[in-house]
Amino acid sequence: MLNVTAIETFYGPSQALFGVDLSVQAGEMVALMGRNGMGKTTTIRSIFGLSPPRSGSITFESQDLRRLPSYRIAQTGLGLVPEGRRCFPNLSVRENLLVTARPGRWDLARVEGLFPRLAERRHQMANTLSGGEQQMLAIGRALMTNPRLLVLDEATEGLAPVIRQEIWAAIRALKSEGQSTLIVDKSLSELLPVADRCTILEKGRTVWTGEPDALDETLRDRYLGV
Ligand code: ATP
Repeated sequence: MLNVTAIETFYGPSQALFGVDLSVQAGEMVALMGRNGMGKTTTIRSIFGLSPPRSGSITFESQDLRRLPSYRIAQTGLGLVPEGRRCFPNLSVRENLLVTARPGRWDLARVEGLFPRLAERRHQMANTLSGGEQQMLAIGRALMTNPRLLVLDEATEGLAPVIRQEIWAAIRALKSEGQSTLIVDKSLSELLPVADRCTILEKGRTVWTGEPDALDETLRDRYLGV
């Protein structure tokens, strides 16, 4: 459904991506991997038109995303949970979920079922939630748009262990429902078991794509520094 081919992206004069290739098929969970600064977030920003690539192609369900502004890209059925979660601080949890809602299989009841903490806190202002709860809210908001492809950038970064486990449980539930997802996360021990495929970036280039089982120690040493 998503095909990214040979994109090159710049921040002003400085080039960050030198040829990224990536695809996600319907129903797949694809892990985008690589050490810090290798271009994962820039790839996601490129897909969503936030840092438009200078060359290469990006298609989603055969639509050319490079021709569309960001707000239209979101309407094509892509849902982003950006690094550093962004909720509306002065809206309640429930209001945050409802403002972006679009009809589909994800509705308030199902999102609150996935994240019971959001149900318990439905009337609280978003800015009174803990960091982890805000992250759940950010994921819930993205689901409420009923994205055909969900994109998670470091959704468990810097959170308390208990909350991380709740978010991973939700990610596993999404996988078992066949939610197509592109996911960036540093926790390989959680990420690899849910990934159908992995794509590794090194210095702004795709250097390897394959199934997680094929990610041997040599590859991990070379590209992931673990
Ligand atoms: P991390 O895991 O640290 O988030 P990443 O793999 O997501 O890393 P990017 O954030 O995409 O990597 O960064 C790729 C390259 O682009 C890095 O060299 C980084 O310094 C550079 N870069 C990122 N954001 C900017 C920016 N706003 N302006 C200039 N250069 C940037």
